[in-house]
Amino acid sequence: MIISRPVSGVIRTRRNIVQAILLGLFFISPWIVMPSGTRFIQLDIPARRFHFLGSFYIPQEGIILFLMLLTLGLSLFFFTSLIGRVWCGWACPQTIYIDVFDFFGRLVLGKKYGKQDAPKAGVFAVHLVWILVSLFASFHWVAYFAGSYEMFDDITKLNFADKSYPYILGFFTIAMYLDMGYVREQFCKYACPYARFQTILMDEHSYNITYDYKRGEPRRNKKEKIGDCVSCNMCLVVCPTGIDIREGMQIGCIACGKCADACTIVMAKENKPTLIDYFSLNQIAEGEKKIKWIRPRTLIYGSLLLIVVSSALFKLGTRIPLSVKTVADPTIEPSFIDQKTLRQLYKVKLYNISYSTQNLKISAFTVDGNRELTVRTGNTENIYSINSGEVIDERIILELDVTEQEKSYKSVPIVLHVTETNNPSIHVERKIPLSIPLFKN
Ligand code: SF4
Ligand code: SF4
Repeated sequence: MIISRPVSGVIRTRRNIVQAILLGLFFISPWIVMPSGTRFIQLDIPARRFHFLGSFYIPQEGIILFLMLLTLGLSLFFFTSLIGRVWCGWACPQTIYIDVFDFFGRLVLGKKYGKQDAPKAGVFAVHLVWILVSLFASFHWVAYFAGSYEMFDDITKLNFADKSYPYILGFFTIAMYLDMGYVREQFCKYACPYARFQTILMDEHSYNITYDYKRGEPRRNKKEKIGDCVSCNMCLVVCPTGIDIREGMQIGCIACGKCADACTIVMAKENKPTLIDYFSLNQIAEGEKKIKWIRPRTLIYGSLLLIVVSSALFKLGTRIPLSVKTVADPTIEPSFIDQKTLRQLYKVKLYNISYSTQNLKISAFTVDGNRELTVRTGNTENIYSINSGEVIDERIILELDVTEQEKSYKSVPIVLHVTETNNPSIHVERKIPLSIPLFKN
């Protein structure tokens, strides 16, 4: 495990700000309660609900989740092609927590942190603090699923009967401690899948942490000095993954920019600009002044991202918090109850996916809307009062006076309407067939 030397600079300061904001969001989000009393964000797996921003989503709305995941994936593609491994250096939890754990290491051990001759008691104290940090971070991670207030209540009352999350919390705490205490950069270098395919997402125009070999090479060799690089190796000793950026782009580089800050300090003493900074490969190789932001791959990734984000926003904007499933009752055949009245039974499943009670009225019309069907349900008004998150399964009878011409069809298409009586904007329509029986009266 590498404990790299700290370095200050412009990139470090900016990363500190970004990381502080991301950590703040991570730790605060599970505690936020919306004005309506619901959770800002929580994935309640036992209840199979995803609470977010005052609504909750169910697995049947998988298209929204799919579009959100696609947005994340395409964002990674788009931003990597534009600005390299920005995710790794600025937002990846692995990178952020390496900085957090180093912060606590230095807080406890001072300058002895990471040194061979550090006092044993101090090293023990660092590991103790790391375990507590792992527990604290894991608590918040698990809180996104189990609920922060419920977990806090259980822990303060030591009430863990029938609870499974303590095992998950224990597992995450141990995993995080082992990762941060012993694995660290090995994960980035050998296990991270993103590191493997980032090279195919970038090209010679991507704006990434890069060494200016044209100015730097040939680097100083003993007293002989030709290029600007003075071979101080500061870029190497501050690197958290232990790589030498002067050897070119490598899978191990997480684009944290520490080498750039280090080289800025070294080069300032020579009155020269840094040799390592955000450059594109073409800026160095061809001396291009401007970054070519608009390229086929950025256009393709950007367009796809725009389409997916627009679709996700459209789906969210037009979302109706009611799920309606219909299926013809297979146990009872459709039949004519007299010369012209066709009757068929349907099963209807109504799922209230809002936080308030819904009073749902069921009605049905022919597709042209000219004829209303008789709908017979378990209650005379055809209105069902369904509590938040409640599902009801109902059998309904649909009756329609069909014409002689319709009798010759296989089925008559009709539209089932389910409407919230107090809020007509909650309205779902399902087009279903009313089957004509084979043997007509
Ligand atoms: S080479 Fe530079 S940017 Fe890459 S990981 Fe090392 S210090 Fe960070
Ligand atoms: S910090 Fe700069 S000058 Fe020093 S070795 Fe690295 S590239 Fe060369």
